[in-house]
Amino acid sequence: MKIEIIKCLNDNYSYLIYEKETNIVSIVDPSEFSPCEKEISKYKKLDYILNTHHHVDHVDGNIRLKNKYNSRVLGFDGDKDRIPGIDITLKKNQSYKIGNLNFRVIFIPGHTKGHIAFYFENEKTVFTGDTLFSLGCGRVFEGTHVDMLNSLNKLKILPPETKVYCGHEYTKTNLDFCLKYDPENARLKEKSTEIKLKLNSNLPTIPTSISDELKTNIFLRCNDNVIKQALNLKDATDQEVFTKLRDLKDTF
Ligand code: ZN
Ligand code: FE
Repeated sequence: MKIEIIKCLNDNYSYLIYEKETNIVSIVDPSEFSPCEKEISKYKKLDYILNTHHHVDHVDGNIRLKNKYNSRVLGFDGDKDRIPGIDITLKKNQSYKIGNLNFRVIFIPGHTKGHIAFYFENEKTVFTGDTLFSLGCGRVFEGTHVDMLNSLNKLKILPPETKVYCGHEYTKTNLDFCLKYDPENARLKEKSTEIKLKLNSNLPTIPTSISDELKTNIFLRCNDNVIKQALNLKDATDQEVFTKLRDLKDTF
């Protein structure tokens, strides 16, 4: 599995997936036609378009790419009326094969009510859209804070070595937010240096990994006493801590 990171719009990432043995080309969340088309044209074909959710900055390339390459569009069954050009509807936990690559659908509502992740277990790779970001999580638009925490908890339990490809380059702001509430975290400080080096060279900070996120992303550490103390919520539940963090981040 070869993954090309495609920068789109201001801070979106689309991902081209190439599977060599069967020569299958797929794209995750084509934000806009032109930058995606530029990458796809090197392969001269596009078999599948995978959408994590229906937001326009994740699906806007669907129709033009589908028309040009006769691709099949895959998205969540519950969002079949909102995903442009959808051909194949996916259910929670369903497995599906694109070429030799097998993925499982992880249902992760919260940001939208039909958000899914694509988990390629054999390749130790997950595409998380706008749910889990490097050092952050998505805004809660259609679901509840309970939904969002449950969804993050589903991603947390993936094998630690799993690489995480998310929908946006929000890492720097997320880093500043994490540092504010977790300033003594050694791995976070290390990561801060790595992130700044990458961004200064105009490189993506993606992928991150589940193991790194567990150590540094405060939204995945709502059960950690260090975070609870920093918020003055010593005796609060994980859910209360999460809701507080998400609200603070909304105005950060
Ligand atoms: Zn979104
Ligand atoms: Fe987005």
